Amino acid sequence: MSEYAIRLSDVIEKFSSSIKTGLTSLEADQRKSEYGLNVIEKEKKASAFKIFIQSLSEPITLILWAAVFLTFLSSAYDFFGRSDLGHALSSVYEAIAITIIIFVNAGLNFFQKMKARKSLDALRKISDRQVQVIRDGKRRRISALYLVPGDIVEAKMGDFIEADIRWLQTSELQVVESHLTGESTPILKNNRKLAKDTQLAERKNMGFSGSTVVNGTGIGIVVATGPNTEIGKIAGLLQKQDFKQTPIEKSIHQLTKKIMLMAAFVVGFSFIYDLFKQYFNEGSITVNGVFENISSAIALSVGAIPDALPVVLSIVLTIGARIMAKNKGLVKSLASVETLGSTNFIASDKTGTLTKNEMTVTNFFINGASDKINKIDRQFFDINDPYQAFFISSVLNNEIELSKENVNSKIGNPTDIALADFSLRSGFSKKNLLDKHDFKIIKVFPFDSKRKMMSTIIQVEDKYYLLAKGAPDILAKKANDIFVQGKKVDFTVFKNDFDRLVSGYAKQALRTIAIAISEITGQEAVKADQLQLENKLTLLGLVGIIDPPREEVRKSIATLKRASVKVVMITGDHADTAKAIAKNLGIIDDDSKTVVTGKEIESMSDQQLKDIVLDKRVYARVSPDHKQRIVKALQAHSQIVAMTGDGVNDAPALRSADIGISMGINGTEVTKDSADLILLDDKFTTIEKSVESGRMIFANIRNFIRQELTTNVAEVMSILLGTFLITSPIGNISELTPTLTTLMILWVNMISDSLPSFALGYDKAQGDLMNEKPRKIDAPILSKNLLFRVFVRGSIMAVTVFAAYIWAAASGMSASQAQTIAFLTLVFGQLWHVFDARSNSTLFRRNPFSNPLLIATVLFAALSSIFVTISPFFNQFMGTSPLSFSIYLAVAFLPALPTFALSIIKEILLSKKIKIDFI
Ligand code: ADP
Ligand code: MG
Repeated sequence: MSEYAIRLSDVIEKFSSSIKTGLTSLEADQRKSEYGLNVIEKEKKASAFKIFIQSLSEPITLILWAAVFLTFLSSAYDFFGRSDLGHALSSVYEAIAITIIIFVNAGLNFFQKMKARKSLDALRKISDRQVQVIRDGKRRRISALYLVPGDIVEAKMGDFIEADIRWLQTSELQVVESHLTGESTPILKNNRKLAKDTQLAERKNMGFSGSTVVNGTGIGIVVATGPNTEIGKIAGLLQKQDFKQTPIEKSIHQLTKKIMLMAAFVVGFSFIYDLFKQYFNEGSITVNGVFENISSAIALSVGAIPDALPVVLSIVLTIGARIMAKNKGLVKSLASVETLGSTNFIASDKTGTLTKNEMTVTNFFINGASDKINKIDRQFFDINDPYQAFFISSVLNNEIELSKENVNSKIGNPTDIALADFSLRSGFSKKNLLDKHDFKIIKVFPFDSKRKMMSTIIQVEDKYYLLAKGAPDILAKKANDIFVQGKKVDFTVFKNDFDRLVSGYAKQALRTIAIAISEITGQEAVKADQLQLENKLTLLGLVGIIDPPREEVRKSIATLKRASVKVVMITGDHADTAKAIAKNLGIIDDDSKTVVTGKEIESMSDQQLKDIVLDKRVYARVSPDHKQRIVKALQAHSQIVAMTGDGVNDAPALRSADIGISMGINGTEVTKDSADLILLDDKFTTIEKSVESGRMIFANIRNFIRQELTTNVAEVMSILLGTFLITSPIGNISELTPTLTTLMILWVNMISDSLPSFALGYDKAQGDLMNEKPRKIDAPILSKNLLFRVFVRGSIMAVTVFAAYIWAAASGMSASQAQTIAFLTLVFGQLWHVFDARSNSTLFRRNPFSNPLLIATVLFAALSSIFVTISPFFNQFMGTSPLSFSIYLAVAFLPALPTFALSIIKEILLSKKIKIDFI
């Protein structure tokens, strides 16, 4: 590609485009089918297979594979060693069944991961990057995916450049292309033709896909898209890792590892114990006995492992992300879902997030007076009249082109809209001045929140002026004099009056803007050294703009306060304006709280900032780079910080924050890209709702882990009780027979327990989660109390199961009947327990019918578990036996007793104000 080395008109011709009208939609469609979508293909297909293989080889699954192997071995022994075909066959069945379960589990895992990825992709699509193009002669916003060569694109501060383009027009356009060149200083772009052998980094008339616009504006023509762009050629660098483990997933992995170690120990111990038992009972150890022991050990190890935990976890997190999206909070990764629940500091922009961003000029001071403005139909405009100059400056040094014909098209910077609107009411419009009178705009230095001002160079006949507007304290520093009643007054004389005026406006919560002018020479206009030019201003006046607070924010802030989440306001506005609004919204409740200004932050060391940061609630006149320091200072106190931002300069702060929040409507593409949470409606209240959802999801995760682990404890203990307490045959049953078979345990883990656990992911919050403190992010998922409770409940369940088994054995039933009774006692025990697991007090405090999915899954689990004891096929496979009706009744309802009994005890204690969390 050598578009940098040819003339502009030739580039446009080469792509048969037009700078005025762009491509036609038809042409764009044709090119789309020719060049494809504007993406750099990521290697996705390979990883689907990888995920499946991964699922098959997870540590948990490896244990199951070992079980398969040992079961086959035992079957081989039965067949060859003892010629016992019956036993051999049932072992083969068991091995096959475990293999099927491994594949079903891996399949579920795989399916779930792909689904999670798909729904995250879908969520991300909503935040797809957009570009402004000209097509069919109209300006449009389209997804960057649909850009084709020849498209005319417009770029402004905060945009990404989405394809390789040749610049046609630029205005102070500065771009960072560090992803290609490694150089992070912005490069000033222009549209001049370059020599043929110019190096990539020197191609100042080109924009490259993936760079960010940090200043100014530009119009360019797309010359390459997707894989044909410079970055596309070195793709692979760009690939993002989209499957990071979330902190919870990590800690669950650690938890399962620990459980597996413990299980290995218990299994090993009970295996050896069993051998001794056999030796003492029978005087020798037989191969047959060893294999019996092995099958018992397999059952034990399978019972000890929470197989379904990882799958259920990712399901619940994905459900959570979807719930948040419905509430207009878009999370880009599952990890953010849980971080939100732990957030304890929210640093929010003021304008647009806490306020409505509907700005109106209410107070003004022009040419030394605040009289009523009067609208006159003017034939001539005189920039030498300070009153007129104020308005001329307000409309020409303004992003908005508001005129009588388009008063309703209020798109763009709200501050500029307010000024344009105000000026129009006095008879001044940009369009009129530019089209019908002799005013020309030469150059624009756009507003940026660091400089807190904007200026424009204009030409009026043969004279040149710099028009400036911005924060009054900034302009005051650059002002030599001020117009009062038509006369220039030395500003040092007037400064006190001016300051009093400004702070008077600010105390009424008004946003303040000063307007200024300065005559410059033609030479200065061309050379245009911004800093020098902006330094000898004459002030024309001042306006106060009201930006009403959003009504619903007050309630959100009160809720967050209850939830021990601190809200901090960060704004570029005047300290008094900030304070007035903070008070109005309840961020601070009295006047004694001080406001920290950007200047103060500037003078502080990181340590000094850290010392004060926990107590401060309002930061005013700050620049974007202060935001990052505030985040870091809070994080130094181990606070979990959420930070909002909208401009390109906010990106580093958003990335540093634990939760970077970007505005969905008014945010720039760059901030959206660095954010973890996107507010689709730009509203502060959405942050509050997301925090609440985060907490709810976490509570649900904790509940299902409780349920899963309780069941595991119950399974292991019921087998161990059998191993240690049964030393001689009971009735017809050998002392070596395990209480439950391996497949029964797998059934419980994979079906009857994991389905209701998964339904817990859909639970609403119990009580008001916003009455609690945020969870410490590094606290264990289950507190000591809860772990203890899991242990207590699991053990009691095991005792019930064991008692049922002994009763069955003692009444002379067969081994498989006794095991079936134990199995159903366990199934129903945990089905009753699930209603307790979703409550942090007792099961009487939650309406069991509030989660219909839970009821449905519990019913399904109950019926299907009974079914596998009746169906001959499953009898064969799982070693179950049909029972009599009265026994079915008994195993369905008796296991409810311990759960209810414990809850009743707890209620009694609670009524005596004794709180015990551990049972
Ligand atoms: P925030 O977004 O936190 O309210 P800004 O950085 O937008 O703050 O604005 C900071 C200050 O810059 C404002 O108080 C105002 O004085 C000035 N300002 C804001 N917008 C403009 C603009 N479009 N042109 C000139 N000055 C502006
Ligand atoms: Mg702003």
